[in-house]
Amino acid sequence: MHKVNISRRAVLAGAAATVVAFDPVNMGWLTAADATPGVRLPNLDGEIVVDEKSRTEAADDYGHLVHRVPIAVLRPGSAQDIQKLVRFANRHGLTVAMRGQGHSTYGQAQASGVVIDSSTLSTIHRIGNGHATVDSGVRWLDLIKATLAAGQTPPVATDYLGLSVGGTLSVGGIGGATSHHGLLVDNVLSLEVVTGTGELLRCSPAVRPDLFHAVLGGLGQFAVITRATVRLIPAPTTARVYHLTYPDLRSLTAAQRVALRDGRFSYLEGQATPGAPFLLEGVAYHTPPAAPDDTALLSGLAPSSVQITEMPYFDWLNRIWDVVQQLMALCLPGPWINLFLPDEATDAYVTNLLAETTPADAGGVVLLYPVLRSRIRQPFVRLPDSPVVFLLALLRATPTPEDAQRLIRVNRAQYERAVAVGGTHYPVGAIPLTQPDWQTHYGDQWRSFRATKHRYDPHHVLGPGQGIFQ
Ligand SMILES: Cc1cc2nc3c(=O)[nH]c(=O)nc-3n(C[C@H](O)[C@H](O)[C@H](O)COP(=O)(O)OP(=O)(O)OC[C@H]3O[C@@H](n4cnc5c(N)ncnc54)[C@H](O)[C@@H]3O)c2cc1C
Repeated sequence: MHKVNISRRAVLAGAAATVVAFDPVNMGWLTAADATPGVRLPNLDGEIVVDEKSRTEAADDYGHLVHRVPIAVLRPGSAQDIQKLVRFANRHGLTVAMRGQGHSTYGQAQASGVVIDSSTLSTIHRIGNGHATVDSGVRWLDLIKATLAAGQTPPVATDYLGLSVGGTLSVGGIGGATSHHGLLVDNVLSLEVVTGTGELLRCSPAVRPDLFHAVLGGLGQFAVITRATVRLIPAPTTARVYHLTYPDLRSLTAAQRVALRDGRFSYLEGQATPGAPFLLEGVAYHTPPAAPDDTALLSGLAPSSVQITEMPYFDWLNRIWDVVQQLMALCLPGPWINLFLPDEATDAYVTNLLAETTPADAGGVVLLYPVLRSRIRQPFVRLPDSPVVFLLALLRATPTPEDAQRLIRVNRAQYERAVAVGGTHYPVGAIPLTQPDWQTHYGDQWRSFRATKHRYDPHHVLGPGQGIFQ
């Protein structure tokens, strides 16, 4: 990739610096204030900006660990804007990353070329019976509010709803209902995308299935998702929440396996946070007068303590909103590690990990819960080869940059130990990875992953922040 300079005047122009042309000689952007003639940018429905504030924001994310400053930010007004930018980027040797809500933690949504801010593509186009069509910049919070008004819900939701549809569909999207319904990417009916060569295409399981299945969980490597049609099911009104505690890790995972096997809870998660009780979190969704049978739901789980609460379904889905807003206001470095472990390795691996993890190093919460592998079906979402797989997520937040760097090294060591026992990583955390690591990650899918890249993004324009091909 070429090094690109921004016209000094364009930067000085600050917030008003809408770019109108590109100077291929000096590899710089030009605003209306510049006298030098350049290559006119295509006419856009939105705008390209180069001011310091927009570029600095695009060079940050939830982890505050990586800062790659782009030369410009596109605020698209349409999918056609993205198509024009991607074609332009191909011609002029620029990289492009779509940024959803920037909630990855290690620069995954950053680029030194142009960052597309998907938040300006935020229209909910249609809520039909069993499906909704939305722009990829829509947050799940806004979509779910709208679907609930129509008595429907996405079958599975992430724990936090402030994530964009496009960002989560690029990584997978796991939640407590995954063992019934799969990941978010397993609940998509069709997509509209702009490929790495700038083609605007629709795809679904029946139309261009190779593109459809590659893009879902494809880490933004092949195409930018501009619109998605996602599956909806009838919404319950109420969530009955069971918090069961356990004295040790093995009794927690044993109870989780029992509950997973018969699918008794609508939602099953859990926590193994140092300094806190081991927690099984089960939820029964229902609509009164129907009511869950507490005795049946608790049978065979043998907890030390039981707490049962009930709340509206939406309040449950949105339960961690306030906590996340408070955390974000602190701007702490967040060197997260998110792993998938095969069932048979989980108890030993997590026991070792917890023995070396202080409450301070764990940060906030350590999530630990099992999912059924058979429910997760997109080929580029990489999971251990085991019928039951545990998600282990250390949502670390640490006060100092030095500590963050230390924990990134710890992440690397823990990642290597997970791979050695057949684990994989869920690519939203802060683990330094090499190209051979990615080949290991994709395993028998690596050739297909690479061939799909060659087909849809041959010049490696898209998704540089993932570090898979760059
Ligand atoms: C507080 C919090 C809670 C979370 N809870 C969960 C959870 O319960 N379950 C879960 O699965 N994950 C969870 N995550 C992780 C989250 O799903 C990922 O970080 C996700 O990528 C965030 O979405 P985003 O919109 O911020 O995407 P970004 O971080 O902006 O982007 C992520 C990646 O997708 C690419 N991308 C973004 N939009 C598009 C698009 N439209 N087309 C193509 N590529 C695109 C980016 O370039 C980047 O590579 C959580 C994260 C946070 C911070």
